[in-house]
Amino acid sequence: MKITQVRLGRISTPLRVPFKTALRTVNSVEDVIVELHTDTGAVGYGEAPPTGVITGDTAGAIIGAIQDHIAPAILGRDLDEFEDLTAAVQKALVHNTSAKAAVDMALWDLLGQKYNAPVYRMLGGARKNIVTDITISVNPPEEMARDARTAIARGYDCLKVKVGIDPELDVARLAAVREAVGKDVCIRIDANQAWNAKQAVRILNQMQDKGLDIEFVEQPVPAADLEGMQYVTRHADVPVLADESVFSPADALKIMQTGAADLVNIKLMKCGGITNALRIAAAAEVYSVQCMIGCMLEAKVSVNAAVELACAKKIITKIDLDGPVLCSEDHILGGAVFNEKNITVSDAPGMGIEGFVPGKVNYLA
Ligand code: MG
Repeated sequence: MKITQVRLGRISTPLRVPFKTALRTVNSVEDVIVELHTDTGAVGYGEAPPTGVITGDTAGAIIGAIQDHIAPAILGRDLDEFEDLTAAVQKALVHNTSAKAAVDMALWDLLGQKYNAPVYRMLGGARKNIVTDITISVNPPEEMARDARTAIARGYDCLKVKVGIDPELDVARLAAVREAVGKDVCIRIDANQAWNAKQAVRILNQMQDKGLDIEFVEQPVPAADLEGMQYVTRHADVPVLADESVFSPADALKIMQTGAADLVNIKLMKCGGITNALRIAAAAEVYSVQCMIGCMLEAKVSVNAAVELACAKKIITKIDLDGPVLCSEDHILGGAVFNEKNITVSDAPGMGIEGFVPGKVNYLA
């Protein structure tokens, strides 16, 4: 099976409601689509959302990285050079993890198709079903309480609540959400780097003193402040999950070795795809550090790849793959079934993506 064409396109998917975090407000999901065509007719699918505020990757940068650097490194090559192909993607240029992730997942999709096996089974096959949380955007407390009640009515039992736009209000926000949903709902919070270390400890301990029962806090301090994150991990009465601090497997290893966080968030767009995500999962297994798998605002091709990984590996115990359910339309055929909180992986060879609703992808010339 030889790679004969790297075809790129763009796809736009409207959100049900605007997505607001400490870093940005977004109204629709705008993704770059990758298709790896082969001489057998098989097509491998990949996708990358431009998330400039987190990865630094804009749509233009993703397209340029693939067209000018990654595609030339894999075109004409045989899929059975798989180890070299995945390495060539990572070595084609520095950074640009979203572009690398899109192509890497398409290669894994092809590998599964070639050997007639679902990718999640090739990687371990731990389970077929996973349960995701859902994100509650940062808004005034009463609006967040209402959004939380709506999520519970839709069947979710775990909320990921965004905080950090105005630290003075964060305890009130969480109190309103907890009051709205009762004590049996799991609440995890994501500060998206908004606090400093001492502020984080103060806010988190206030939340626990009020009985708000926070499962863990995601990225309380700036990405580069590993000492600050270690301080929070040691002094706050809430487990800490590293997200923006962990891009590469080396980043993850450093956090595990220094105990800077209790948990690590794997996102394909940060680490550059399935190949590097497997390296993070392997390190996490060695250190017994449980992982969350997360996504950006992404449509179903790339979240589907994350589902394949999550269903393969038991060390991934926390699931934050709500990208598709935040969208009001689905233009992607095949792949995992997303039924609100319940996600069932596809048993089709590769990753099970069958293509797109006609006319929904704007292919580049
Ligand atoms: Mg996060």
